[in-house]
Amino acid sequence: MPARTNYGIDFDKQSISDTDVRGKKILLRCDFNIPLDRDTGAVTDDGRIIAALPTIRYLLDQGAAVIACSHLGRPGGVLSPEFSLKVVGERLTELLGKPVKISRDAIGEDSRRLAASLQPGEIMLLENLRFYPGEELNDPEFARALAALADVFVEDAFGSVHRAHASIEGVSHFLPAVAGFLLEQELRHIGGALENPKPPFIAILGGSKVSDKIGVIDNLLDKADTLIIGGGMAYTFLKARDGSIGSSLCENDRLQYARDMLVKAQRLGVRLLLPVDSLVAQRPDNSLNPDVVNSYNIPDDMMALDIGPKAANEFVSVIKDAGTVIWNGPMGIFELPKYSNGTRMVAIAMTDPHIVSIVGGGDSAAAIRQFGLEGRVTHVSTGGGATLEFLEGRELPGVACLLDKPGRAEV
Ligand code: ADP
Ligand code: MG
Repeated sequence: MPARTNYGIDFDKQSISDTDVRGKKILLRCDFNIPLDRDTGAVTDDGRIIAALPTIRYLLDQGAAVIACSHLGRPGGVLSPEFSLKVVGERLTELLGKPVKISRDAIGEDSRRLAASLQPGEIMLLENLRFYPGEELNDPEFARALAALADVFVEDAFGSVHRAHASIEGVSHFLPAVAGFLLEQELRHIGGALENPKPPFIAILGGSKVSDKIGVIDNLLDKADTLIIGGGMAYTFLKARDGSIGSSLCENDRLQYARDMLVKAQRLGVRLLLPVDSLVAQRPDNSLNPDVVNSYNIPDDMMALDIGPKAANEFVSVIKDAGTVIWNGPMGIFELPKYSNGTRMVAIAMTDPHIVSIVGGGDSAAAIRQFGLEGRVTHVSTGGGATLEFLEGRELPGVACLLDKPGRAEV
């Protein structure tokens, strides 16, 4: 059996820097699944396109011809004009300052014709892969048809590598498959922190649901020195410790799991911190004035909407002494200014330049951007589900399928 991929600093998969791409046609899987304005269809956040530029520029500069591809939205295997990648191609043209040819299909006559005439240093974009049922079904014939367009496959869609789809895993059976810079950077940062953290290693989890992050809590308890749990998910844990949590978020069917995790932390000697106090109000409403109460004694008609000041100070003092911090999930309803303080204080504490600081999760990344701190942490992941599965310690199909670095031991 092949050894499990090592994601850390000695990342053992081949990347574009190990591969001669000059004069080659490259099938480049990107994650251009970006938000579009519901009314106008315009691109509302081009962060994922910008994140793909280093790989694209490198390949073009090296004299490769780039056939970029992606999914967008959930068209469900049928051609749906509202999910066309045309707007992405136009934005990419602007960002690159170079025309991006957009084909009308992904595996039809138009893409074959454009790909065949594509010259070194030129780029084209295939139409939405999910217009074809074969993409999500990982149909080998669909993968074979995609692969037939190119000589080498470059995987750079970090946000999608947890899915064994045709353009992510299937094509690796037909083409030499290597990592792009974005994928490599994500794996090195997150994998490095998980496998080889600069101690002490602090994990901070928050957000609304315990059930979203069951595997993450479990896996991080095996690795972290301290686990901080804040946000809505903390109240299931507080109730599991017999706290009165009022009408705060609680997953009653996860109480036993929470108890198991509290026991596991104790067994492993991992410090597990819950917010000692909370900001509470009758409902999540920015016009109400919240109270500060002990998190184990929340009045019946009140719900916790942010960690309290004592909890925030305690979390900040733990973070200050950290070597590595991984953070996933806001400490409160940060979208409302009155309940954003806990999340902001944690985020600011992470920006200490001595800390290797990694932010994962769509809402946590949005919070970091909202606070203007994006450039002051070590790494903000572009993945959502992929980041969570990575933090759970699961094998990622879009990474496992890439070529190993020469000399990697088979066991
Ligand atoms: P991420 O996308 O970073 O993984 P999640 O999706 O798990 O984060 O959680 C983000 C959501 O959790 C935010 O919309 C935030 O408002 C919500 N949240 C945080 N704390 C609470 C709370 N105490 N009560 C209700 N919702 C909360
Ligand atoms: Mg989220």
